[in-house]
Amino acid sequence: MKTILKTHITVKDICEGFVYNKLEGKGLFGLAGKLTIQPEYQRNYIYASDGGKREMAVIESVLKEYPIGLIYFNKVSADNLEVLDGQQRITSLGRFITDKFAIVDENGLQQNFSGMAKDKKDKILETKLLIYECEGTESQIKEWFKTINIAGVPLVPQELLNAIYSGPFVTLGKEEFSNSQNSNVQKWSAYIKGSVDRQAFFERALDWVSKGSIDDYMSRHRKNTNIKELKTYFSSVIDWVSSVFTDVESEMCGLEWGRLYEEHHKKSYDPAKVSKIVQKLYGDPYVKNRKGIFEYVLGGSKDTRLLDVRVFDEATKRSAYASQTKTAKAKGKSNCPDCAIGHDANKNKIWSFNEMEADHVSAWSKGGKTTAENCEMLCIRHNRAKGNR
Ligand SMILES: [Zn+2]
Repeated sequence: MKTILKTHITVKDICEGFVYNKLEGKGLFGLAGKLTIQPEYQRNYIYASDGGKREMAVIESVLKEYPIGLIYFNKVSADNLEVLDGQQRITSLGRFITDKFAIVDENGLQQNFSGMAKDKKDKILETKLLIYECEGTESQIKEWFKTINIAGVPLVPQELLNAIYSGPFVTLGKEEFSNSQNSNVQKWSAYIKGSVDRQAFFERALDWVSKGSIDDYMSRHRKNTNIKELKTYFSSVIDWVSSVFTDVESEMCGLEWGRLYEEHHKKSYDPAKVSKIVQKLYGDPYVKNRKGIFEYVLGGSKDTRLLDVRVFDEATKRSAYASQTKTAKAKGKSNCPDCAIGHDANKNKIWSFNEMEADHVSAWSKGGKTTAENCEMLCIRHNRAKGNR
């Protein structure tokens, strides 16, 4: 790969003919049309998020004559350059010069570019940038792109994958799943954590359809000119969740819905009944892990480990142990009621406190409370043998 360092290109040159596409959230062109600011494999513009702190910082750096770092262009042809690294910084400059945002000056006042004093304007426009022009094959450029980290905001794994497997499939996928204008985003946000700009939905869609092998799936579908399978699978999961669970709870966000769909979507559920069970569990003070409620209900309300049901406290266990042991000793039987009714050598064994565990006499899942009256100590073996607590 050939690289040439250019030191004479100014902010003014770069921003000549700058176009910002608000709908797609990207800076498009610069250098009087010669420069493509956001090629396919680049990510969306994210410096404007965070209340615009990062894009303001770019302008403040230029005004204070601080370096804003190296910028890399890919030389596609004599008249055609693409930004490899520096898209966010260039877009910040272009957006400022076209009055898309203001900075706060030393007096705490909002100041946009057109309202600035001429000397300040000139200072910005005449600032020279450090630019490397790279020339190489597509794979060389991409391999290299994979190894760099964009200054300030490192790429998330999905952004890297989008860069590596760029092509029609990624373009279509991003149009659907990385597009903040898509009216479905709000609905998806109930179940999926993360932001649309940082590829959270595209990543989840790929994760679900590929059962966790995103890299492999993207590589196999790279040249595809449709994303039908991806879209269909994704909406099947979302539709399934929203039809089984009619109430949207905040704990649903970020659960492994792809896996839960695979494990349970062939069973039938009565949404009204499901809703009742969910609400009851939400109101149960003994349920410590609300995130586990959904998988618990999908599995037929059996695996209470998912709920992390509150256990008996130490004092309750000690008191149950003392009274059970006293009675057992008087009768000459084991202090584990299950051992006591057995016929092996343990039938009159007195277990120590540490050899026993607390159990709900009436199971929690059948309405039994975690109170002293419902506490019984069992030897570890017998307690573990009881599945339903
Ligand atoms: Zn026992």
